[in-house]
Amino acid sequence: MKITKSISSLKETILSWKSGGEIIGFVPTMGFLHAGHLSLVGLSKKKSDKTVVSIFVNPTQFNDPRDFQNYPIDLDKDSDILDKTGVDMLYLPLMEELYPGGEKSNQIWVIPEKLDKYLCGAARPGHFRGVLTVVAKFFHQVNPDIAFFGKKDWQQARIIEEMTKSLFFPIEIILGETIREDDGLAMSSRNVRLSPKDRKEANIIYKSLRETKEIFEQGETDSEKLRNILAEKLSSSQNGEIDYAEIVFRSDLSPCKGKIEKGGALMAVALFYGDVRLIDNMEI
Ligand code: AMP
Repeated sequence: MKITKSISSLKETILSWKSGGEIIGFVPTMGFLHAGHLSLVGLSKKKSDKTVVSIFVNPTQFNDPRDFQNYPIDLDKDSDILDKTGVDMLYLPLMEELYPGGEKSNQIWVIPEKLDKYLCGAARPGHFRGVLTVVAKFFHQVNPDIAFFGKKDWQQARIIEEMTKSLFFPIEIILGETIREDDGLAMSSRNVRLSPKDRKEANIIYKSLRETKEIFEQGETDSEKLRNILAEKLSSSQNGEIDYAEIVFRSDLSPCKGKIEKGGALMAVALFYGDVRLIDNMEI
């Protein structure tokens, strides 16, 4: 596996691959890799000739500086895993190249218009501005044919799909399913920051989503009632504090009203355990 830090050497390699007609797949991550990330790598290896993975903890998408400071990092382990998985290139962007003069000096931002009005966009002001800006930078640098994102971060995936269309990036976006721990908790790099007690309790997120989905499948289609059921199930958590528990349209992420049609909605949840914020969702 090639490891590159500079944009120039990244571009040189990508260009040589592309001139040989090879399809480039790209998986951007913030590292501290788990099976969720690796499922995207697996998709990329299936669909592309060369797979590039980036690891960069992007400061501009953290609305909470403590969350940024505490974000887990283990580059040696990550690089070992990616090498063994058969990734072709690990891109470790340099802060000074991505944000010359520091992130506060960044002049041009990519800002979503509507899709960030709800869920994490509402709960984390500026978050998606940071995400879109860094992903746009990466798209220009890596110039992939296909980029892979996880449905676990549904809103992020939807906003990136729209940015790709809107800014005419010639990139296909492919979404991967959420990979879960044995007890149903969605894998996340932040899970290691949970206390043992909170970690044990955190499967309530998946359980609540599943049980609410069952109630929907048994015939309860009123969005308001389902939203209340979901929130009530989550609130039985001792230590978890609900940030949001929503039922939204999958396409524009606005809150559902009245009756829900099968196949169009998404239950989306964010829960705090102390300062660790976990998100999850389930299609209904
Ligand atoms: P992150 O490193 O958390 O920024 O995530 C990098 C990519 O992996 C994003 O596209 C995420 O949506 C995706 N991802 C994170 N967790 C999971 C998971 N449990 N299952 C599938 N994809 C995931």
